[in-house]
Amino acid sequence: MAGLSLEHIGKTYPNGYEGVKDFNLEIADKEFIIFVGPSGCGKSTTLRMVAGLEDITSGTLKIDGRVVNDVEPKDRDIAMVFQNYALYPHMTVYENMAFPMRLRKAPQEEIDKMVHEAARILDLEKLLDRKPSALSGGQRQRVAMGRAIARQPKVFLMDEPLSNLDAKLRVQMRAEISKLHDRLGATIIYVTHDQTEAMTLGTRIVVMKDGVMQQVDTPAKLYAEPCNLFVAGFIGSPQMNFIDATVGEAAGKVTLTFGKNTITVPDSKAAALKAYKGKVVVLGIRPEDVIEEHEYAEGKTLTETIDANVTVYELLGSEAMIYGDVDGGSISAHISATNPVRTGSRIKVAFDADKIHVFDKQTELAIVH
Ligand code: ADP
Repeated sequence: MAGLSLEHIGKTYPNGYEGVKDFNLEIADKEFIIFVGPSGCGKSTTLRMVAGLEDITSGTLKIDGRVVNDVEPKDRDIAMVFQNYALYPHMTVYENMAFPMRLRKAPQEEIDKMVHEAARILDLEKLLDRKPSALSGGQRQRVAMGRAIARQPKVFLMDEPLSNLDAKLRVQMRAEISKLHDRLGATIIYVTHDQTEAMTLGTRIVVMKDGVMQQVDTPAKLYAEPCNLFVAGFIGSPQMNFIDATVGEAAGKVTLTFGKNTITVPDSKAAALKAYKGKVVVLGIRPEDVIEEHEYAEGKTLTETIDANVTVYELLGSEAMIYGDVDGGSISAHISATNPVRTGSRIKVAFDADKIHVFDKQTELAIVH
């Protein structure tokens, strides 16, 4: 297995469009890296450059320390799994998995060993004689994975491999890919537009927008400390609430005011905000950190409450989401399914002030989290 190094990688398409701009990333051996971002942000282009399916316009790509910019895809020691996993319909599972090795003219003995090893890892041993038409969607996807594994590449590249599967299978396969990563000890780069998939699979996540890398971090860090408004809004579902607020001061404390509501900023977050006194910033708070009156821990009283009108109630199972208007903005909050609040309820909420994020309105960069 291997590490990769992407140094100032850029891609300008022949029509002049810059699909990827100055992409820098060191990927360690055995990492499970996710590229995530909305459609068109340059994830696939970056992956295809690593694969050698797309020319690199600028920058240096190294696999295991070796510059591979001009190395043919077949000589890069990588295997790619696409969303359209295109198995050969006339071949058995065994032959589908053996195919890339046959192309490479590997000895039959080695092919047999590797196909059986991949089949064992993916629990496909009983299906080796079947044709793809006699397999379920999930089994076909496993065969496609098996074909990649049997080649024993240094690096696996996966481009939305689960997007053609139904929701239930997707969740199952997600767990399988996670196990596979543990078992193979492989370096994997995985592209998805789905932030949930990114959060559950990755050891590190690269968030991209308009061809530009926004933040690279562990899932937990991205969630807790998004570097800008885009990342804060993209990671987390339902998304973080954003409210324009004015920075002020009262009784020696920094405050944030929107409409008739004022929140006192905890001292730990206050210092960076002092320079913004009198200015409008963006206050961010995740739905789970907006606490509805009924949800407040027993014996505690709500301080700095905010009046809200509930406009939408969505039952999710054990939990529900409420969306509502507050003076100076709108908010969403998680509540439990037993909470009596419904559409039309007039409620009080409080923000968990330790969990607020504040962003610069002009640069959109995080000031504090
Ligand atoms: P993603 O995988 O994040 O959805 P892509 O990497 O496929 O995005 O594309 C990044 C951007 O480059 C998009 O705006 C896309 O329209 C553009 N693009 C992709 N392929 C080409 C091409 N061959 N010529 C010009 N522009 C392209």
